[in-house]
Amino acid sequence: MPAASRTVSPDATERAGGELAAGLRPGDVVLVSGELGAGKTTFVRGALRALGVTEAVTSPTFVVGLLYDGTAGPIAHLDLYRLAGLADEDPGLLEPYFGPDTVTFVEWPERAESIAELAGRGIARHVTLAHAGGDAREIEVRGA
Ligand code: ADP
Ligand code: MG
Repeated sequence: MPAASRTVSPDATERAGGELAAGLRPGDVVLVSGELGAGKTTFVRGALRALGVTEAVTSPTFVVGLLYDGTAGPIAHLDLYRLAGLADEDPGLLEPYFGPDTVTFVEWPERAESIAELAGRGIARHVTLAHAGGDAREIEVRGA
């Protein structure tokens, strides 16, 4: 997908997530930034669908992350919104969601400094979503 695009519906944002997913490989880590309601989970839902996840995809709320079975291996979806800083947390908390066979999506990556270290090959993509009036959203992708 192009480095910057604009969508005007949740469906279009899901499609953008699906397009990004098509270029991923096992072990890739995708950071998804943007304020509340910007469409991060919507984007990830589209990506997970494209990777073969058939279950309902909502933001992990009472847990830090969820693991799914994708067509080509495990898929992790993390939401670090409620994570105040990993210093106070179990350092192993996030480890199950990263690995050479796992594709990992992280909402609110800014909340955990350790993400860069957990991503073995580094960060594959950094997606930023922003409100652009009404149902419009700007989607920027770095690292493609
Ligand atoms: P976040 O995870 O960033 O908090 P969500 O994806 O959970 O955001 O929620 C985005 C909300 O905005 C949803 O209710 C969705 O239906 C709505 N929405 C409206 N237009 C769009 C769009 N173009 N892209 C994504 N979401 C949109
Ligand atoms: Mg979300």
